[in-house]
Amino acid sequence: MSINRRNFINLTSLGIAGFTLQGFVNQSDIKGQQPIVISTWDAGLNANKGAWEVLSKGGTALDAVEKGVMITEDEIGCCVGLGANPDRDGYVTLDASIMDHEFNCGSVAFLERIKHPISVARRVMEKTPHVMLVGEGAQQFAIAEGFKLESSKLSETAEKAYQQWLKKSTYQPVINIERQNPTSQLQDQFKAPTRFENGEWNHDTIGMVALDAHGNLSGSCTTSGAGFKLRGRVGDSPIIGAGLYVDNEVGAVVATGQGEDVIRVAGASAVVEFMRQGKSPQEACRLVVEKVRRIKKEKAKDIQVCFIALNKKGEHGSYALHTGFNYAVHTAASNHLIESPFSV
Ligand code: ASP
Repeated sequence: MSINRRNFINLTSLGIAGFTLQGFVNQSDIKGQQPIVISTWDAGLNANKGAWEVLSKGGTALDAVEKGVMITEDEIGCCVGLGANPDRDGYVTLDASIMDHEFNCGSVAFLERIKHPISVARRVMEKTPHVMLVGEGAQQFAIAEGFKLESSKLSETAEKAYQQWLKKSTYQPVINIERQNPTSQLQDQFKAPTRFENGEWNHDTIGMVALDAHGNLSGSCTTSGAGFKLRGRVGDSPIIGAGLYVDNEVGAVVATGQGEDVIRVAGASAVVEFMRQGKSPQEACRLVVEKVRRIKKEKAKDIQVCFIALNKKGEHGSYALHTGFNYAVHTAASNHLIESPFSV
């Protein structure tokens, strides 16, 4: 920690909102707006556009968060959709979840060869009495619902990364390797595009939460989890309460980062509960990230955990364990990235 913790506590107790352990967040950036959509990482800029098409026409937050993340599922990147990196046995396995303003939720995990896991998650929510389907069963359900079974061939980028990874076969995560377009300040730290292809261990999620013109919240997230993971590994994203949680009385939260450490603190649900107690979205995210840091002790230096949160008033915020996390915000005024405050 480079800023004295006592100073930080003093400042917050004086009510100086927006000052974080590491830097300032522009308050006009996070003021309440409606409709609004926010999503994780710079891939969120594109995803937000899809969601905004729905929101700007008076559509529902639920439709917006499905449509938005489908855009990322179609893109080739390290960590989302069928173009993503495979597990250690060479198969791409996908996790996704969706939740609406009435506590309806659906998810899929360990799903293979289906292009839009988020839409399968929505069908699980709408057409079954269950919340979660996994593996072969989830795939069978998707096919029965008319989804096409795609080829199991890896994307060119993923194949290259996998071949590289096989040479080392290590499981040491590289923090923020998913970051594609670092600002000049962070340029040296994140040489992401080349590092993808080097087969370094990485992970990422597109997570999105939105508030529509009717005042309702919804959220979604979709990911291949962690590249080169053990076969069968499922992360936080399809676990309602961990990777995603929506309580329409309070707010909506989505996580990204090391899924195992989001699960152990029931991350998204914990952030919502802090907002219920009156904390701002940013402060609520910070409290849960700090809990992860306390639990992980020394090991916190090796992992990234991040949350974004949106409350009922359309105010938003984020917090990450390490520098380098950003999120995209789309309102009637603009679609832009915000650098997240962070802990260590
Ligand atoms: N949370 C995802 C997982 O662990 C990965 C990420 O968002 O970085 O599956």
